[in-house]
Amino acid sequence: MIWALSALLGLVFGSFFNVVIWRVPLHKSISSPPSHCPRCKKPIRPYDNIPVLSWLLLRGRCRDCGKRISIRYPLIEALTGLLFVAAYARFGFSLLTVKAIVFVSLLVITAFIDLDHQIIPFGFSVTGLVLGLSGGILAPPPHILRAVTAAAVGAGFVLFAMLLWRYVLAGAFRRFGVDQKEGMGFGDLPYAAMIGAFVGLKGLIVALAAAVVFGVIIGYISRAAGRHKRGQPIPFGPFLAMGALVGLFFGPQLFDIYARFAGLA
Ligand SMILES: [Zn+2]
Repeated sequence: MIWALSALLGLVFGSFFNVVIWRVPLHKSISSPPSHCPRCKKPIRPYDNIPVLSWLLLRGRCRDCGKRISIRYPLIEALTGLLFVAAYARFGFSLLTVKAIVFVSLLVITAFIDLDHQIIPFGFSVTGLVLGLSGGILAPPPHILRAVTAAAVGAGFVLFAMLLWRYVLAGAFRRFGVDQKEGMGFGDLPYAAMIGAFVGLKGLIVALAAAVVFGVIIGYISRAAGRHKRGQPIPFGPFLAMGALVGLFFGPQLFDIYARFAGLA
């Protein structure tokens, strides 16, 4: 029962996140006008607005004018549903699940906004940072002090990486045809702090390591596939979000495995 409920909740929230991802960066209201087809402007009927299912039934087209509706919409709904279920599977019936659901919601929204606009709105990361720190009080671990520490380490890492990239690595990478002035943007700074606040220090370290691995692999593939031209920046936010999911769900375990492997523990 709770499984089905979390999946359903995730699908419905995912549908709402689609609206947020689309409208917030354009400074449009998220409530009005109601969802409509971007081409024929006809409002979307309530029964055509059922997450995932409607898209499948309409075969990805507007009922009125037949304009293609991107598969991204049902994918974001399905992804959110999946992540809500994963949160319940991982943390059970507890406050930690509520915290995880808030966190994955922020990650889904910000990752796709960053993908579209190369920006993580400060509003989201700062709100997330505050929520993550409050979560440190409500649902320990991580305890509030640990949450603050991890947030500071997250921000510090991004600052360090930005400087390292600008003054050391950018030149080296340019020789291999990767011409990217900034490794990360200033928007990644409060974002990494938010991730730290939510997942704690071990989770954060795993998240950052995973983000770098995702970034290198996917960045390389997308350049090789010609999806990105030389000099066109690849936003790092989506990789941070993916890394954060690894940190949230497997952070402490992966950290301990690594520590044992490295002989640190
Ligand atoms: Zn239409």
